[in-house]
Amino acid sequence: MLELQAIWNKVLDSKTEIARSRHAIDFWRDEMKSIGARMSDLRSRVDQLKLKIKEKEMELHDVESRIELLDSRKNSLKSQREFESMQTELDTLAKKKDTIEEQLLQYMEDVDQIEGELEIFQVEMPKRLQQIENDVQQLQSKLEVMQKQAEVNAKEFNKRISELPPDLRVRFAKVIDTKGNAIIPLEDGICMGCHFQVPVYVKDEVIKSRPATCTNCGRFLYLKN
Ligand SMILES: [Zn+2]
Repeated sequence: MLELQAIWNKVLDSKTEIARSRHAIDFWRDEMKSIGARMSDLRSRVDQLKLKIKEKEMELHDVESRIELLDSRKNSLKSQREFESMQTELDTLAKKKDTIEEQLLQYMEDVDQIEGELEIFQVEMPKRLQQIENDVQQLQSKLEVMQKQAEVNAKEFNKRISELPPDLRVRFAKVIDTKGNAIIPLEDGICMGCHFQVPVYVKDEVIKSRPATCTNCGRFLYLKN
């Protein structure tokens, strides 16, 4: 039964390892997706900024045309009042022009910055993706080996457990299924699985190397020397 437990432990270990590898594979796949998402986000921000730049350039063009037009009419003004009113409009337009130019500059700086970030991504991406791809492949072949190993161990376990006497087999299978560890050392009359002091008759059975179970948790007991 100790051997049986050892095989079962291997099965459990493989299961844990398999789950860990699967988790790692999922992690790397998500990582790849998020890199892709980040890049397309940056690209769409560049596109939006370029659209805004076009709009601002058109606005700028309109303001400049208006200023030119007013300037060309300056000499044909007839009164001081007309002149003042035109000057006010020109001042407003000049301010508007400044604002548009500042915005344009800011948008262009933003585009430069994002495009720089994208360039770094484009250099780093293939290397990074290749590395992730390699990691995933390694994990997958490791996973296949572990799965085969787990199958072998599970078969071995089933074979060995079928060799036990029927009543023992059923009890052992039940304990291993619910507790994970079905056979536990007895130390100074205490079950090391649940730390319960077993009755003397159980201890006697264990000493005589007969199949005995803890009266509290049901685990099989063996004497630790
Ligand atoms: Zn116990």
